[in-house]
Amino acid sequence: MKGTIKINSELCKECLLCTVACKKENLQPAGELNSKGFHPIILKADADCNGCALCATICPDIAIEVYRE
Ligand code: SF4
Ligand code: SF4
Repeated sequence: MKGTIKINSELCKECLLCTVACKKENLQPAGELNSKGFHPIILKADADCNGCALCATICPDIAIEVYRE
């Protein structure tokens, strides 16, 4: 299965739960800060997302949307 995610960077508080949840290690903090002073999570350039939704399920701030092909 192929998938991708969209992250609402303004909702992200950099708790890093999603980075641990992603078995494919697709997620990392961005270099830039959001308006609240956190480094929001981004999908790595070489990400291999399968749309499993573990990241979105664990996110306490509902910052991640998952899309599957
Ligand atoms: S949907 Fe699954 S594979 Fe894709 S980034 Fe989230 S946890 Fe990783
Ligand atoms: S789990 Fe949600 S709030 Fe925490 S780092 Fe990931 S996207 Fe940000």
